[in-house]
Amino acid sequence: MKRFFSLLLAALMLLSLCACGAEKSAGKVVYAMDTVMTLTAYGKDADTALGEAEFELYRLEQLLDRFTEDGEVNAINANAGKPTGVSDELAALVALAQHISDKTSGAFDPTIAPVMDAWGFGGSEFRVPTQPELEVLLPNVDADQILISYEDRPRITIGTMQALDLGGIAKGYAGDCVKSIFEKHGCTGVIDLGGDVTLVGRKSDGSDWRVAIKDPYDPSAFLGTLSASDCTVVTSGVYERNFTENGVTYHHIIDPATGCPAESGLVSVTVVCADGAYADALSTAAFVLGIDRAAALRDAFATETPLLELIFVTGDGHVLYSDGLDGILEPNTESGYTYEHLS
Ligand code: AMP
Ligand code: MG
Repeated sequence: MKRFFSLLLAALMLLSLCACGAEKSAGKVVYAMDTVMTLTAYGKDADTALGEAEFELYRLEQLLDRFTEDGEVNAINANAGKPTGVSDELAALVALAQHISDKTSGAFDPTIAPVMDAWGFGGSEFRVPTQPELEVLLPNVDADQILISYEDRPRITIGTMQALDLGGIAKGYAGDCVKSIFEKHGCTGVIDLGGDVTLVGRKSDGSDWRVAIKDPYDPSAFLGTLSASDCTVVTSGVYERNFTENGVTYHHIIDPATGCPAESGLVSVTVVCADGAYADALSTAAFVLGIDRAAALRDAFATETPLLELIFVTGDGHVLYSDGLDGILEPNTESGYTYEHLS
């Protein structure tokens, strides 16, 4: 029922969006990757682009979701300990995930799956695992153990007790793939994959798109608006998935060092980046690392991702943002937050 109303709401929002522009536009609501996705394309081939985009999103769900039967990630996990033949595409994405894991000191780790499952974030009942249980699982959370070989075809081998979870990078990557489809058809537009937003080109009048950043304490309100074009804006926040037990709320972004929900003093991190896969993985990593260590990611990734801007929201009501967002982030002065530059 919740899914039905989300889809209905997204469809109504889309109708109002499409009705007001002079340029030809088309919209589509897609349900994939457990997410209501809202795609809006502008250009004469907008309908064709959206049709292809929808199939692309179903294809990526099949490829990347570890619970989708016959999917490649599913096959790697089922075959743990032995090499599994995979597509060039999956090998490249897992190699990128492994690389980002390495450069974030393991704060982003695509082998987090067994710990996600222990908390029930894998789809079963939510529960708080015991410390001894986590101690058994943690040695398996180690992206270094993923072997990718390229002989006649790419093959991926994970440790016998390991499992891949690409949930921290998949939607950002999907944004990149859909963006390529829009561009192939000469379209601009907005690809909203449930809060991971990829902006394709600019508005037809040459101005930037505007993206609202959710208030992590009230996701129906917003703490600011970003004006941007040709980039991906991804937010990792405690509000996305969580449960409360004995008065304590546990969220779904796990610190691979402890096996527990990250306690970095943050309630959300937004990353603005030219590349969607990087934006997604780095938002998860930045959330785990906390402000000081995450701010250093801008230098660490400068040569790979020329655009990398960050917005941190702390548990005590502060919004800190990197200086590249000056004049781009418009704070919502009624939100009750205080806004500061990162020092
Ligand atoms: P995001 O909302 O992009 O921050 O991603 C959260 C999702 O990424 C979770 O639902 C898990 O599937 C996965 N995940 C959680 N913690 C981590 C982590 N430390 N590294 C990599 N993936 C993670
Ligand atoms: Mg992420």
